[in-house]
Amino acid sequence: MRKNPDRRKEDRFPQRKDDIWRNGTLRAEKIAGLLYPRRCPFCDGLLSAGEPYLCRRCAGNLNFIRGPVCMKCGRPLESDTMEYCDSCRRREHRFIQGFAPFTYRGMVQDSITRFKYGNRAEYAGFYAAAIRKHGSVHLEEWKPELILPVPIHPDRYRKRGYNQAEEVGRHLSRELGIPCATNEIYRRKNTRPQKGLTPSMRRKNLSDAFAVRDGARLPERVLLVDDIYTTGTTLDALAETAEEAGACRIWFACISIAPGQSL
Ligand SMILES: [Zn+2]
Ligand SMILES: [Zn+2]
Repeated sequence: MRKNPDRRKEDRFPQRKDDIWRNGTLRAEKIAGLLYPRRCPFCDGLLSAGEPYLCRRCAGNLNFIRGPVCMKCGRPLESDTMEYCDSCRRREHRFIQGFAPFTYRGMVQDSITRFKYGNRAEYAGFYAAAIRKHGSVHLEEWKPELILPVPIHPDRYRKRGYNQAEEVGRHLSRELGIPCATNEIYRRKNTRPQKGLTPSMRRKNLSDAFAVRDGARLPERVLLVDDIYTTGTTLDALAETAEEAGACRIWFACISIAPGQSL
């Protein structure tokens, strides 16, 4: 029986080194994949050439958010008679609306922990693809002109070697064909982690955290990007600063959103 030609190509790749050079159309990522083997964002196992983002086993266990969600932040709701989550009912937001493809728990939570603290910036490609896939209806409707990842303080950047939100933003920028702002807005305060703070402490912690670089201007329609959405305090602070730079229609996309019970 004849084997599927695509399958054959996959099987062969990358067993023989000179195969890389035989096909002139081979993409740069594939070559990079040989030098730095790609890993599954969930089990951290090595991916084969036929697994562009995650391994087949984890793909089968992956749960995108389904069912009723908060009209403001996209958090899953217990009943479809509710319009907003408890958190959004309690506070106004500076952004219009947002979403995340995943709830922040289980395998997603472990994955994001490695992404942020375990030197796994490479997971960003999968996260961006998940955001685009899950949010395609929103993104087509909103038509953002710019992606604005949440900036981290230079001290934290030096320690981590990358900004996790920026990594997702860059990949999403490529997926959507719109630019990603990495310099226009910066973090001037090295704020404490928000975890464990009350909402008012979060706001205080973040007041004046961000600033507009001298002379920088943003377009009107901006998509903020971050890794985890909890109460939206960080995104509200960033949205406020983005408005100072000229943005006036602001949405967000995050990799994950904390379930309601944890707030
Ligand atoms: Zn896996
Ligand atoms: Zn909400």
